[in-house]
Amino acid sequence: MNHQTQADTFDGLTIALSKGRILDETLPLFAKAGITPLEDMNKSRKLIFQTSDPSVRLLILRASDVPTYVEHGAADIGVAGKDVLMEYDAQVYELLDLNIAKCRLMTAGVAGASLPNRRLRIATKYVNVAREYFTCRGEQVDIIKLYGSMELAPLVGLGDLIVDVVDTGNTLRANGLEPLETICQVSSRLIANPASYKRKLAQLEPILQILETAVQH
Ligand code: AMP
Repeated sequence: MNHQTQADTFDGLTIALSKGRILDETLPLFAKAGITPLEDMNKSRKLIFQTSDPSVRLLILRASDVPTYVEHGAADIGVAGKDVLMEYDAQVYELLDLNIAKCRLMTAGVAGASLPNRRLRIATKYVNVAREYFTCRGEQVDIIKLYGSMELAPLVGLGDLIVDVVDTGNTLRANGLEPLETICQVSSRLIANPASYKRKLAQLEPILQILETAVQH
């Protein structure tokens, strides 16, 4: 049996996206540039999608993997939240603020509770952002790494505060938490692999121009 990895012979533009809010708000923007997936990405279990433009394909990834695929050139460009870009610090170009999937990175805690008079424990998947935030404030904290459902942690004594993205705040309130401090505003950004950006500029430029115009309106 041949165990060799099959070479990726596709030489067009590969775009990395993630499901959910970002996908729903990004697809209408790419549609303006003539790029529409040939099947419903929300219903399919596929991870690679051909588009109405044969020289463009779309990948569906976990949001936190988008910068990694773009950094390594497995995708030429991608759409990632500023929260993810801040946390993972990938070597990519940030080309454009798409002004979509807006939210805030915030600290939150149990509603009405006062904080203990000791070193605080912060439960979050944004360990780097949280560490930097509290360090800048001169506060030493212990960070507890989680992968999701951060709202649960302080309710059962895992951490005093959480750091998470907040949109309406409904999820926090539904779990007896309250938003406290805003760390930064978040929106989705178009990112590019630096080498792809140079090599595929001719294909990228018209798409960029359309996206730029679309996000200004
Ligand atoms: P909220 O509207 O504050 O109740 O947000 C609902 C959930 O969606 C929260 O737990 C967040 O983790 C998540 N969320 C909200 N906005 C975004 C966004 N722009 N990108 C990624 N996740 C988000």
